[in-house]
Amino acid sequence: MTAWKRMEVTGWGRVPRVLAEIARPERDAELDRIVQAGTGPLLAMGASRSYGDAGQPVPGGRGLLTTRLDRVLAFDPEAGTITVEPGVTFADLHRHFLPRGWLAPAIPGTAFATIGGALANDVHGKNQAAAGSFGDHVRSVELLTADGQRRTVDRDSDPELLRATIGGLGLTGIVTRVTFALQRVPSNAVTLTERRIDGLDAFLAAFEAARDATYSVGWIDALASGRSLGRGILETAEHAATSVAPVPPRQRTVPVDLPSFAMSAASTRLFNAWWWRRIPAEGRTRSVTIPAFLHPLDGLRQWNRIYGRQGFRQFQCVVPFEGGEASLRRLLEEIGRHGQASFLAVLKAFGRQGTGHLSFCMPGWTLAIDLPERKGVTELLGALERIVLDAGGRIYLAKDSRLSAEGFARMYPELDRFRAVLGRVDPDGRWQSGLSRRLGIHAPLQEAIHG
Ligand SMILES: Cc1cc2nc3c(=O)[nH]c(=O)nc-3n(C[C@H](O)[C@H](O)[C@H](O)COP(=O)(O)OP(=O)(O)OC[C@H]3O[C@@H](n4cnc5c(N)ncnc54)[C@H](O)[C@@H]3O)c2cc1C
Repeated sequence: MTAWKRMEVTGWGRVPRVLAEIARPERDAELDRIVQAGTGPLLAMGASRSYGDAGQPVPGGRGLLTTRLDRVLAFDPEAGTITVEPGVTFADLHRHFLPRGWLAPAIPGTAFATIGGALANDVHGKNQAAAGSFGDHVRSVELLTADGQRRTVDRDSDPELLRATIGGLGLTGIVTRVTFALQRVPSNAVTLTERRIDGLDAFLAAFEAARDATYSVGWIDALASGRSLGRGILETAEHAATSVAPVPPRQRTVPVDLPSFAMSAASTRLFNAWWWRRIPAEGRTRSVTIPAFLHPLDGLRQWNRIYGRQGFRQFQCVVPFEGGEASLRRLLEEIGRHGQASFLAVLKAFGRQGTGHLSFCMPGWTLAIDLPERKGVTELLGALERIVLDAGGRIYLAKDSRLSAEGFARMYPELDRFRAVLGRVDPDGRWQSGLSRRLGIHAPLQEAIHG
């Protein structure tokens, strides 16, 4: 018998919140039984590191937590491929494979994300320009679809279903196995160079100059204005030839929700100024472990509590390189006017389009920023959506909780192809999330079926 537990479910931003029935199956047979029982709506859930409602069941719906489905099933060192259950996390892979010289090819900013979640959002890392996103490295998946059947899907057997499943937000079914390529690395470390950058023009020029870097990422002071608009710190990194002593994992936790004044505009401005000056004017270079470089926030458990019980939203967009500077300027000015941005703001360059129908990545500049949940934040997000639409860019669904259905349809041109696959593998729309309802992803299918 499956144990269902009624729980409040939120994404990492802790807004919105829903009540749903959650099960944590441990075995394939149990998972098959749940799906074959035909109750719905259902949603696969990973580590809930998506910020908004992408990983949230619909109110009163059912969530299938994959965290117990966490076995590594096969590893082929000749081909460099690995087959895992969906609940395996990047932290698991770092722990077992980094000491043997293997690393996942595209890794998000938190190692707590699961491989199932990484596939379903086609996640990217600080090496997107060089290595593409997660889906580019996937060889095949096993998918349990709404009809209760397991299918192995690869680029030959059903390329459209694979493209719908990569970045497919869990809407084609629950992924039960993922086979993907790992990359060989010479050590557990990268050589990291950090440089202060004065403003937006200089930032974009510095990214251009660092085009050949394996990793590049910018921290941006989203509250700087005038001549300093867009100032920040550029980090570039290359794999190091020799390892460094792994830093013992720190066990710090934010124990309670902080009061809202902890993240006021004044304290953020002070923090940002200090953070920027922390890097010497001439820059600095040092060796750090790969996990420390890729996941700087993972050492502080439950850091999302710094925004208080009311939570926060994350906005992440990508705008094409052409006209990108003007669009970034408009976005930063709009955020600056609002005045409530957090210190967590990131600028990166993407090099490649993702392979999924709903993949986020495309060549261009990507800007990500946390916004405490305060009066005026939804209006700000509306204004940012309009700027992104004008620029011909798109908003990242893994981070979103506010995008309009209309804006979504304009940003994701392969939506109809995605819907055509859903019409084939889930015509009744059994797999649903808060996000899929908000964005009306199933609406035309439901109209076609029910008139
Ligand atoms: C601190 C932090 C930094 C981050 N940095 C980045 C970054 O640099 N790049 C980036 O791309 N993202 C980043 N993210 C976002 C995060 O990587 C993605 O949201 C990722 O999908 C989270 O994985 P998860 O296991 O938590 O999945 P969840 O958030 O639980 O679910 C995400 C989606 O995956 C689906 N899903 C989960 N498991 C399965 C399965 N077995 N089968 C089918 N569908 C499934 C869910 O239905 C949902 O649609 C970051 C998040 C945090 C908190």
